[in-house]
Amino acid sequence: MSKVIDEIRFTKELISKPSITPKDFGAMNVVSKHLKKIGFKCNLMSFQDRGTEKIINLYARYGTKSPNLCFAGHTDVVPAGDLASWSVDPFKAKIKKGYLFGRGVSDMKGGIGCFISAVSQFLKENKKFEGSISFLITGDEEGIAVNGTKKVVEYLKRKKEKIDFCIVGEPSNPSKLGQMIKNGRRGSITTYLTVKGKQGHIAYPNVALNPATPIIKILNELKSKPLDKGNKNFQPSNLEVTRIYIDNTADNVIPAKASATFNIRYNNLHTFNSLKNKISKIIKKISKKFKCKTEIKFVGTGTSFLTIPNQTVKKIQKIIQKETGEKTQLSTSGGTSDARFIKDIAPCIEFGLVGNTMHQINEKSSIKDMKKLKLIYLKIIKSFFN
Ligand SMILES: [Zn+2]
Repeated sequence: MSKVIDEIRFTKELISKPSITPKDFGAMNVVSKHLKKIGFKCNLMSFQDRGTEKIINLYARYGTKSPNLCFAGHTDVVPAGDLASWSVDPFKAKIKKGYLFGRGVSDMKGGIGCFISAVSQFLKENKKFEGSISFLITGDEEGIAVNGTKKVVEYLKRKKEKIDFCIVGEPSNPSKLGQMIKNGRRGSITTYLTVKGKQGHIAYPNVALNPATPIIKILNELKSKPLDKGNKNFQPSNLEVTRIYIDNTADNVIPAKASATFNIRYNNLHTFNSLKNKISKIIKKISKKFKCKTEIKFVGTGTSFLTIPNQTVKKIQKIIQKETGEKTQLSTSGGTSDARFIKDIAPCIEFGLVGNTMHQINEKSSIKDMKKLKLIYLKIIKSFFN
C-alpha cells in the first residue's frame, strides 16, 4: 500500500535543494524518489546543447493504458536576490502566519507538491484505473529553455508517447486561488536594430549622417500604429521599446551608430515570420529614405497558441469554481511558459498557485491554498478517469 505524500512536507524538501537555474542540486532526485515510491516508472534524461549547461529532466509514468493525463512543471528557480531582505532563509522553507515562505514555493515547487500529493492519494484509493498519469518535469524553464521541455517533447514525439491532456502547474492565479486558468499564451519576438550613419561635426551635418533621426522615426512608426485590436481569446498585440542606445561622449559630434531593442507580445493574428516581415519593411523604408545602413536581428521565444475550451477544460473550470467560489476565467494573458512546447503534442492548460510573489523577495504561498489546490488536482484526476 503506497502512502500519501504530504504536499507541504514535499514542497519544503524540494525547496531545500537550491536549484537556481540551470543548477539542479538534487531537486530532480527529490521528485523521482517520491514518484518511484508510489509506483511510477521514472525516466531521467539529461540534455546539453553545445555551449550550455547540462540539464536533468524527468518523464515519469504510472500505468500503460490510455488516456494519459500529464502534469508538467519545473524544479528550477530564479536567484533569491538580496538574502538580507528575506525574512527566512529562501532555501529553508518556513511556515509563518499561515504562509509557506521559500524561493520557488509558488513558481512552482508548491504546484509540483500539490499534484504529487493528489496523485498519491488517488493511487491509494484507485489501484486499478483505466488510464495513465505522467509527469514531465524540467530543470530548464527559468533559463534559456533549450535543454528542457523542448527536448523532452522531441523525445516523446520520437517515442510516439501519447499524452491526452496536460496540466502545467505554473502559478496562473493573479491574486486569489481559482481566478484564472491559462488556456493559451501570446508569442514573443525581440528585435535588435542598429542604424549606421556617418560620424561628423555637429555644425556640419551636411557632410555627416545622423542615425538618431531615422531610428526615432522607425520606433515611432512601429509604436504609433496598433498591431491589431485583439480578438475573443486574446488581448491586442503590444510593442514595447526596451532599449535605445547611442555611444557618444562628445556633445559636438554626430554619432556613427544608433541602436534599439524592442519586444512584441503577439496574439494568434500574427506569427514570428509575419511580424519579421512587417518590421523589416518599415525599417527598410525609413532607412532608405535617410540613406542609412541597418543591421537587424530577430529572436523569437515562443509563438502564440490557444487551447480550445473543450469538454475537459470546461470540466476543470467547473471543479475550480466549485472548490474556490471564484468565477474562474480562461485567459491568454501574461508571459510565455513551457506550454508553448507541450502544445505540439497535447492540449494543455496552466493552473497552479497564486503568482503575486513569484520571483520576488519573500516568495510565499498560503497553506490554505496549497491544501485546496491539492484537493482541486485530486478532483480533476478523478473526473478525468471517470
Ligand atoms: Zn514557473
